Amino acid sequence: MAASFAFGNVAQILAFLERVFRVLGPSPHATLTARRPLSPSQVTGLSHRFISPSGVHRFLLCLRAALLEHGSLEALYQRGRDRGGGDPRSWLAGFLASFRESWREKIPRERNFLFPDPGKGSACKRHNLFLRWVVREGDGVDLGLWTALSPRQLIVPLDTHMARLGKWLGLTSRSSADWRMAEEITGAFRAVCPEDPVRFDFALTRIGILKACTLPVRGTCGRCPLGVACRGGASPDGLAPRQGGQAPGKKMVLPVLPPLG
Ligand code: SF4
Repeated sequence: MAASFAFGNVAQILAFLERVFRVLGPSPHATLTARRPLSPSQVTGLSHRFISPSGVHRFLLCLRAALLEHGSLEALYQRGRDRGGGDPRSWLAGFLASFRESWREKIPRERNFLFPDPGKGSACKRHNLFLRWVVREGDGVDLGLWTALSPRQLIVPLDTHMARLGKWLGLTSRSSADWRMAEEITGAFRAVCPEDPVRFDFALTRIGILKACTLPVRGTCGRCPLGVACRGGASPDGLAPRQGGQAPGKKMVLPVLPPLG
């Protein structure tokens, strides 16, 4: 729920989730799988950005259908993985296709946003974020709840911050923030840490999310831990992008790597 609706600003996301979880009560699982499904009137007025109360209601019914049929989201993912062939993109595609099949609406714009198809090129940022949360070991950032997938097989959740830094750090040569860019950046991380490539995601995207990097400006860049590795960084006079840094497509050199764990 939290990953699917993780778009817009943080205050809006938190306000929406608080309202949804108030409706779902102390056990969202019990509420979603109760004999009587949630009625549209229980989510009246519950919208988030361009997702209407009716879209929220359909989303909850899709979750209900998945939980009733498979027992858990992990079991559903496992089925998608078995059905989809041999790579993380097709496993995620199978998982999301199951939800799309339960969504009944003639013009499914909201469905296609909430359950996109990575086969059509979408980077599926929110769903790769969800997988990061449940697959990476519980380390205070992620939860480590699933065993259906290994951290080695995760793909980086590609948002605007990661796309920009990916280019500035020379991790990708692509210009569109799509699934292939996410794979390319993940591949560069994998060269540094094959057992847990997505471990860099939280630290790097924080720089953008916390607005520590809005523009390459003197002062900000001087204090930035990415230092000279970033080719977007400001020159010493702060007036122009720094020359040098990581060239696109070249092997990445990160300045400091803290030990695992
Ligand atoms: S070096 Fe400058 S431009 Fe690069 S990430 Fe840091 S603050 Fe942003």
